[in-house]
Formats: sequence, structure tokens, C-alpha cells
Amino acid sequence: MSFDLYVASLRTSEDFRQTCSSTSKLMAPTVSPDFMDSDPSMSAAPKISFVSLGCPKALVDSERIITRLRAEGYALAKTHAGADLVIVNTCGFLDSAKAESLDAIGKGLAENGKVIVTGCMGAEPEQIREAYPAVAAITGPQAYESVLSAVHAVAPPAHNPFLDLVPEQGVKLTPRHYAYLKISEGCNNRCTFCIIPKLRGDLVSRPLAEVMREAEKLVRAGVKEILVISQDTSAYGVDLKYAPSLWNEREYRTRFLDLAAALSTLGVWIRMHYVYPYPHVDEVIPLMAEAHESGGRILPYLDIPFQHASPRVLKAMRRPAHQEKTLQRIGKWREICPDLAIRSTFIIGFPGETEEDFEELLGFLTEAKLERVGAFKYEPVRGATANDLGLEAIPPEVQQSRYDRFMRHQQPISAKLLQRRVGKRIRVIIDEPGPTVSRGRSEWDAPEIDGAVTVASKRPLRAGDIVPVKIERADAYDLHGIVV
Ligand code: SF4
Repeated sequence: MSFDLYVASLRTSEDFRQTCSSTSKLMAPTVSPDFMDSDPSMSAAPKISFVSLGCPKALVDSERIITRLRAEGYALAKTHAGADLVIVNTCGFLDSAKAESLDAIGKGLAENGKVIVTGCMGAEPEQIREAYPAVAAITGPQAYESVLSAVHAVAPPAHNPFLDLVPEQGVKLTPRHYAYLKISEGCNNRCTFCIIPKLRGDLVSRPLAEVMREAEKLVRAGVKEILVISQDTSAYGVDLKYAPSLWNEREYRTRFLDLAAALSTLGVWIRMHYVYPYPHVDEVIPLMAEAHESGGRILPYLDIPFQHASPRVLKAMRRPAHQEKTLQRIGKWREICPDLAIRSTFIIGFPGETEEDFEELLGFLTEAKLERVGAFKYEPVRGATANDLGLEAIPPEVQQSRYDRFMRHQQPISAKLLQRRVGKRIRVIIDEPGPTVSRGRSEWDAPEIDGAVTVASKRPLRAGDIVPVKIERADAYDLHGIVV
């Protein structure tokens, strides 16, 4: 496969040539007509019209971007008008070069309407936005990944089932009807018991449009429930300064609330995991309340790893949001969304945990009334800062006894909360279908970690069916009911 590159020299100032040791070029690379015509698989491929301006370094950037685009199946268009999108790789070295770049952007917008700007001028996005607010995305020089993400958002790549080795949604290890959606990598927190930031680095969020495209693929592949995961879901987008992201011709910001709003439009269950009780999480609760009342999509469920309740221990753990008034916050959330279920995990026997700290934790459980709770005994992971805090290790027998007390304390709380579902009609997603009895989960139960609903039905159900169920009884962990 070869490209015909149109290279047209443009006028540039002599200064620019000397300093930048290059000629400035306007290049409109195109695929050769026989290449496009002879490959039927390309007919559905999105087409990109590419303008490359500036020095050889920018030219190499253009080559790299085009190479990546071609590897993903994009075709190159000969004209802006026949393309799905225009990319302008700009030069910002001199005023004349900037003017030339702005001209090229204007031309792209006039002839096509969808323009992504990259290159040196992208380092000063204000100038471009001021002149052309309609530009779809602006990225800086050598920001290949960002350019690719922006292209995916504006003109998603075509999936070719005959050429692609993996299904459009990727290879999934979960059952077909639910899937995990990872929205970021790494973590900006430094909890003293955790070595994840050392292993995975600081928070790197995926732009919202990229996350949404993956979510759409999952839905197209038959997924009925998406489980949003990351190390710290409420911090989503902080690293990107909540950058704007175009999805479905609407501008969102890369942040928790916008992501929840966008996901809620997909028509499947959305479950939020690893959310910390930062104040801005309050904004998502009304979405959960609305969704629940209207049979909607953002499930009234939050998985918040509190880890402890004693301020002293939380401080030693260096937990995010340890100063937040958590009980008040939970109370406020329940006022807005009375059906909200909270699941959490706790660490028992963190170094220096006193009997008083532990009692405070039990008191918190009594007050917070969390639906589902998990606990594990502290282990001194190699490399964790907690090992070097000079705090006294808790003997294993004390850890075990506190763990048992913790579980005994929480069990009746969870059981009582479960009892309030008896007699109610709830929605259940089926995980393990059977001819007359199936196993599923309510909106308040995540797969693998929470409880189940045993469902009797006259007709056979399928995995992923969401059915109305009248709850007849509850035991310690599970509900039992009948399809109505
Ligand atoms: S435990 Fe703390 S540091 Fe580790 S991933 Fe979670 S929030 Fe980040």
C-alpha cells in the first residue's frame, strides 16, 4: 500500500527558513485512487484530509499520526469536502507561520466543518479557539495519543469483522451481559498501605469521548450492565484539567459528573465503583435518584472504600477525603436518593489502631448503615509507607478478634437492610438462567462481591434479561422472589 503525497511549497519568510532550517510545506497526503478503489474494505473506512505545515519535525509528527491512522483502518481523502474530518498540523514559529496555520484551519472548517488542530500552535489553544471556536479539538506538538483520541471521537474507526482479529469491544473475560469499563490508570493519592501509585504511577484519565466510545462498543456487543472502575473514580479528569471532550456532537468535560451523564444515555445499567466521598460526588446523586424513579440507568449504588472511620487511623493511612464529614455526607445523599445502597471495604488492625479506634469504626457502621461491607486484616505489603511510620503492629490474634467482632457487628445491619426489600417489586438482572429458577442481582448488588436474587419464573429467562421481581423473602445475604 502506498500513499501519493501532494507537497506544495508555500511562501514563508526568509527568517523562518533560516531559523527553522526547513521549508514550510503544505501537504495534502492522499491515498492513490487505485488503492482506494481496489480495496472494498476501505469503502466504509472514515476518511481524513490531512494538512501538514511547518518544519521537518512537524512533518515527522504528521507521518507518525498518518501511520497510526492507517494502521487503524482510516483512509486519506484528497479533498476536505470528501472527508469525514480534517486534521491540521500547525506551525507556530513566526507570526506569518501562525497566520498560515489559522488560514488552513479556517479553510478546513469552511470546506468540511470538522477540524482537529495539532502541532506547535496547539500549545497556545486560546488563539485558535478565539479565531475558530468551532474547532473540534486542539492538541499540542507530539501529542499523538491525544490526536488519535480526538479522531476517534469525531470519526470513530470502522470495525471490519473480516480483517480485525478481535471483536469490536475487545476480548472480555466477563460474561457477555456485563463488563468493566476502566476510565483511568494510576492514582494521585498516597495511601500509606498501598503501593499502586508506585507500580502504576500517577492518575492518567482517558478522555471522556474515548471512554464513551468503548462503552458504546460494549453496548453494541450486548452488554447490559457497565461497571465503571479505576483507582479513584471521583478524581477522574483531574490530570486533564477536566478537558472538553466531544462525544455525539456534544461537548462534555472529562469529569465524573459529565461521564455519569453521558453514560446514562446509553440505555444500560451503569454501576460506579471506587468512588471517594469528595464534595463533588454530591452532584451525581440526583442522577441516581432520577434514574431509579424512572427505571433509569445510573444505579443507586456507590462502592466507596472507606477503609476506616477513626480520623486518627485515616490520617495515618493518608486516605483521600479523610477530613470529609462522611456521615453527614451519606445522610445528605440518602435524603436525595433514599434507595441509595453503599458498599465499602475496611482494613482491620492497621498499625497503631487502638481499641478506641476500633470501637469508633463499629460505631460508624451502626450509624452509616451500609448495605454491603467487606473487611480484610492489615498486611504489611513490602514497599508500603505504612511499614515505616513507626506505629505499633497489631498482633495477629487481636486482628482476628477485631475482624470477627467487625463481621458480627455488621451482619445484622446488612440483614435488616435486606429485609426492607421484602414485599417490594424490584428489577433484577439475570446472571445464571435456569428453566424455572434463575440467579440474578438487584440494582444494589454488584457481580462477584455482593448478594444475589434467586428468581422463580414460569418462562425460561436468559442471561442479561432485566426482569421485574416481587421479593418474597430475604436471608442473611440474598433475596428470593418471583417474576411478575
Ligand atoms: S488505596 Fe489509595 S493510593 Fe492506593 S490506589 Fe486506592 S486511593 Fe490510590
